[in-house]
Amino acid sequence: MLAIIHHKDYRKYDLGEDHPLIGDKPERTVQFFKERSIFSHVDLFTPRRATEEEISNVHDKDYIQLVKTLSQTGGMLALDTPAPKGIYEIAALACGGSILAAEKLYEDYDYSMNTLGGFHHASARSSSGFCFFNDIAIAIEHIRDKRRIKRFLIIDLDVHHANGTQDIYYSDPSVLNISFHQDGRTLYPGSGFIHEIGEGEGKGFTVNMPFLPGTGNDSYFYAFEELVPFFIKEFKPEMVIYQSGVDTHNSDPLAQINLTLPFYFIIAREIKNLVDKSCKRLAILLGGGYNSLSSIKAYYNIAAAIVDKEQIMEGEIKDPNLEETKRRVRELKKILRPYWNFKR
Ligand SMILES: [Zn+2]
Repeated sequence: MLAIIHHKDYRKYDLGEDHPLIGDKPERTVQFFKERSIFSHVDLFTPRRATEEEISNVHDKDYIQLVKTLSQTGGMLALDTPAPKGIYEIAALACGGSILAAEKLYEDYDYSMNTLGGFHHASARSSSGFCFFNDIAIAIEHIRDKRRIKRFLIIDLDVHHANGTQDIYYSDPSVLNISFHQDGRTLYPGSGFIHEIGEGEGKGFTVNMPFLPGTGNDSYFYAFEELVPFFIKEFKPEMVIYQSGVDTHNSDPLAQINLTLPFYFIIAREIKNLVDKSCKRLAILLGGGYNSLSSIKAYYNIAAAIVDKEQIMEGEIKDPNLEETKRRVRELKKILRPYWNFKR
């Protein structure tokens, strides 16, 4: 059963009229799900705000104070990230949503979905990329404390590199962070190269797979199948968090990856199958997506795969980069081989 976490105030996570992050997307997503009767298969829950103590498990006190101050006055957190008044409360609410999504996996739900989450550019002391607090890490730390979990797997398929999450867990072997993204030489935040694999005890527990602009479904399927089932089998996560950004869609205005709607259905079904065979705990955080209607359809396909409903179709776009992707996967495995027992 799928638990969907949503709050009507999520619409207040709105960074301004000309900003690509559009506040009403979560609400419209839920509306779209309702129109297509996803909710006959789903239970809906309303989150509380994450407490300052929960946020401070991940973020420095000074940084939290900065967000609080900006939240009172309005201002800019970073060049691309305006801080509207009241943003502290809404960012904390989104974090509470991801905490609740993780908690629901200890009740009657194998799958959960937070309609506003996946703020993977926020690191402990700073942030940009429309993110304030890293709800992924805040949920992980909450569950780690409360449920004594030792191994978390993050599958981050948002088109942007998960640099904040990577910073937070770079030397931590209990969180395996796999990020698929458009090559950092061509897109914000300019990081996530395959040689970034963690440090100290965390070496081998950061996995970055960058794709060239113009890459399509074939490359993503190939890289996913080569990497993700292997890591689930070898790492044996006790919880899987899927940051399901859909700014990889061909219509997205911020990036140049050419995935189509069926990709999101097939990959969500694959993640579900892998989780069903392992830890049976999958939290989905609906990350970035900046063409609202395509984003909502892509989110729908993810939910449809989880509850076994029909997907929305779209014609395929040819992938010119499969050979380069294969080369990169080979190179990535070579770099990771001292830490992981790849058979080929
Ligand atoms: Zn993104």
